[in-house]
Amino acid sequence: MAELRVINRKKQTAPVSARRDASATIAQVVAGLEKIGLAMKSRTWRREGQAGLGPLQRQVLTLLRTKPGQRAQISTVANELAVRLPTASEVIATLERKQLIKRCRDMSDGRVVMAQLTAKGNRSCAPAPGMPDQLGTATATLSASEQVALLTSLVKVIRSLQKQGEISVARMCVSCQYFRPNQYTNADRPHHCDYVNAPFGDRALRLDCQEYEPASSAQASAAWVDFTGSRTA
Ligand code: SF4
Repeated sequence: MAELRVINRKKQTAPVSARRDASATIAQVVAGLEKIGLAMKSRTWRREGQAGLGPLQRQVLTLLRTKPGQRAQISTVANELAVRLPTASEVIATLERKQLIKRCRDMSDGRVVMAQLTAKGNRSCAPAPGMPDQLGTATATLSASEQVALLTSLVKVIRSLQKQGEISVARMCVSCQYFRPNQYTNADRPHHCDYVNAPFGDRALRLDCQEYEPASSAQASAAWVDFTGSRTA
């Protein structure tokens, strides 16, 4: 009887210890991500300080740099940076005074005002020549399979943050209307992109694609099930 009690206790404690291990791992991963975030932030702050730009000003310039024609509506800027419209307008006005941004009319609808990078603005947010890309260098130390595992893990983490409302826009394959996950048996390139009409693999998953078009929530949910169906969720 005493032996049975010991066995039962072992059976009950195993899941608790597994949960504790999982929480400890999650805490370490979060600490690691925070360290990377801090390192990137302090590097950006140093650079922003030299250029006389605030963090949000830098984000607006960088966002516009990724847009077709380097321009976007102010509401788009506010939405993609998850800030209020008056805040985005204020930052854009400041950048306009610094001649880093100019306002122009949308060519397809003259009533719509766009914010567009000036040549000076483009130069101010371009990667500094010769500046080593520390994060890229660090990522390059991973093996090819580790890089793919990290990329797919980031997709999952970003998607979860998006669902929690912490990231407003993530132009990722997994929520794109052109994404057809696991269409092929070829393990290297199982997915299909309808936009370019070509197969691709996990290593080419995009986190910020200019051709992205949002899928309906039903299509995105079904694609997510198909995408994660062949791997550990
Ligand atoms: S258009 Fe871009 S985001 Fe959409 S599936 Fe193709 S590569 Fe991915």
